Amino acid sequence: MLRTTYRGRFAPSPTGLLHAGSLATALASWLDAKSAGGIWLIRVEDLDTPRVQAYAIEGILQQLALMGMISDETILYQSQRISFYTEALHRLNAAKLLYECSCSRKKISEHVESTSQTPSAELVYPGFCRPQEPHVCPLSNHLSAVRVRIPAHTNILGQNLPQDVGDFVIRRNDGIFTYQLAVVVDDGYQGITHIVRGGDLESNTARQVWLQQQLGLPQPFYRHIPLVVNASLEKLSKQTQAPPIWPRNSIEVLQYLHAAGEHLGLGLEKPTSQLSIAQWQEQAVRAWSD
Ligand SMILES: [Zn+2]
Repeated sequence: MLRTTYRGRFAPSPTGLLHAGSLATALASWLDAKSAGGIWLIRVEDLDTPRVQAYAIEGILQQLALMGMISDETILYQSQRISFYTEALHRLNAAKLLYECSCSRKKISEHVESTSQTPSAELVYPGFCRPQEPHVCPLSNHLSAVRVRIPAHTNILGQNLPQDVGDFVIRRNDGIFTYQLAVVVDDGYQGITHIVRGGDLESNTARQVWLQQQLGLPQPFYRHIPLVVNASLEKLSKQTQAPPIWPRNSIEVLQYLHAAGEHLGLGLEKPTSQLSIAQWQEQAVRAWSD
């Protein structure tokens, strides 16, 4: 019997077109949803307006459609959901879980460099602006970032949040809500039960679970897939000049899908030109389930 309660999603940031790495992630989330008889959704994470490329929004949706991946429900655009993030911000504030911070990144990084023995990938905020007592903040000043106040000894999924992550930002000093808050609000809103995403996002999971707990949202299952790397073992990304995928015909679609499937360990035979995309998908769903 099929599990019909599965709800998964792929949530690209339209800062550029999909490359081989983001295609593999999209395919993994799609295969996981389809093999569970579930719903698969697309969410466009277009909040970071200075970085969003207008062409990439339609471009990514076209790329996914060419690869046979279509959202089962209306596509959600984060840029249209500011009022929901604002509401979550006010709820956290009412629970005295926020404070405003006007530290520059430079000030924080200089302090961290001067005091830490071990270099850490995460810039843990040293708490300069953290008030002694939890309080409700005025939240009027857009020149301040808004941080969450992580209580001491908060341990989630084996991660010591105060020590490993620190009080993280949920609204930037330009007024833009961060990925951490928006993703939690939207996963809750869309009833997402399963999240399959790239391994680079794994270190975000504990703080997102913490936010879910504070907002009374259910915790989805998380699965992180290994990143596609280039010949120098760098993550494929716009920074490492990964080329966008753009198939010119159905054979190239199959070649791209096959390469992504190889990365996911599907072990399918090289597709012939007679194979349709739907047939490839059937094989891939079966292989994913095995
Ligand atoms: Zn500060």
